[in-house]
Amino acid sequence: MADDINKVVILGSGPAGLTAALYTARANLNPLLIEGHEPGGQLTITTEVENYPGFEHGIQGPEMMDVFRRQVTRFGTRFMSGAVTEVRFGTRPFELVADDKVIKADSVIIATGATAKLLGIESEKRLMGYGVSACATCDGAFFKNKDAIVVGGGDTAMEEATFLTRFVNKATVVHRRDTLRASKIMQDRARKNPKIGFIWDSAIEEILGEQKAGVSAVKLKNLKTGKITEHKTDSVFVAIGHNPNSALFKGQLEMDEIGYLKVKPGSTYTNIEGVFACGDVVDSVYRQAVTAAGTGCMAAIDAERWLEARGE
Ligand code: NAP
Repeated sequence: MADDINKVVILGSGPAGLTAALYTARANLNPLLIEGHEPGGQLTITTEVENYPGFEHGIQGPEMMDVFRRQVTRFGTRFMSGAVTEVRFGTRPFELVADDKVIKADSVIIATGATAKLLGIESEKRLMGYGVSACATCDGAFFKNKDAIVVGGGDTAMEEATFLTRFVNKATVVHRRDTLRASKIMQDRARKNPKIGFIWDSAIEEILGEQKAGVSAVKLKNLKTGKITEHKTDSVFVAIGHNPNSALFKGQLEMDEIGYLKVKPGSTYTNIEGVFACGDVVDSVYRQAVTAAGTGCMAAIDAERWLEARGE
């Protein structure tokens, strides 16, 4: 039945997916948005968002995603909870399997995002958004004249530590080895910065603090000696990398060696016609809510024009 074929199915409900829904709904494409494992995306695990234009006084991340969603709902987006477990891009219309149902689509917009890698300790989870963060650009400004710990030894950790020195008294990089993985130029920049210190061969055992008062210290374990020490800090930035949520598309869509989906430069076109990708699943560089929303808009316009050119 023709009724069963969706013109556009959007995967993901963060800023990219919801913006793609807003634009496709307003273009009368009656989009179906499948929310995924983490409805609202990464912003639902942050607290204050101060850098999204239009929210003059800042807004809590989860509340912001509620606002996005309410705006999108006004124009008739259909929401489906759950996650897609299989995609078949080799058939037309495309087929997506979610909750044992097969959903058919003329076009698909992928906005499945990325997930920051975390340490996996209980205190990290409890204090996430209360002094623990996975994004210095988002949260660095909350720690003016305070101290920060940055976990990791790659480019992200160097970049986060360097960025944080605009605000904090001191950013201390805690790395599990005594050699950095970061590129030479990023290492040199960090090493030369008088506000950046390093603690080598160490792992965070526990982050001390409470949600109300924030982070107060970390317990560090020296991995060579086994010795545990306490180190005062006001914040912990976990910078050990991100995983793009693209496993579902392996073997069907082109991606880089880490798994970020490849799109034609300056567009959201993937290697399969009719499949568009936007937001953090294509972006290893900027990773901001506003850039995700921007590319979500691009994906909607790309999909709309592609469908129109095919007379759909
Ligand atoms: P990465 O290169 O994979 O580095 C991750 C770092 O975190 C490594 O030092 C790793 O330690 C450490 N780590 C991983 N898991 C850990 C754990 N469970 N506990 C403690 N430490 C852990 O990731 P990335 O820094 O995000 O960079 C990803 C890619 O993006 C790279 O290709 C990078 O060059 C690129 N990038 C470029 C820029 C730029 O050019 N401006 C900025 C950011 C990222 P080990 O070293 O011991 O494995």
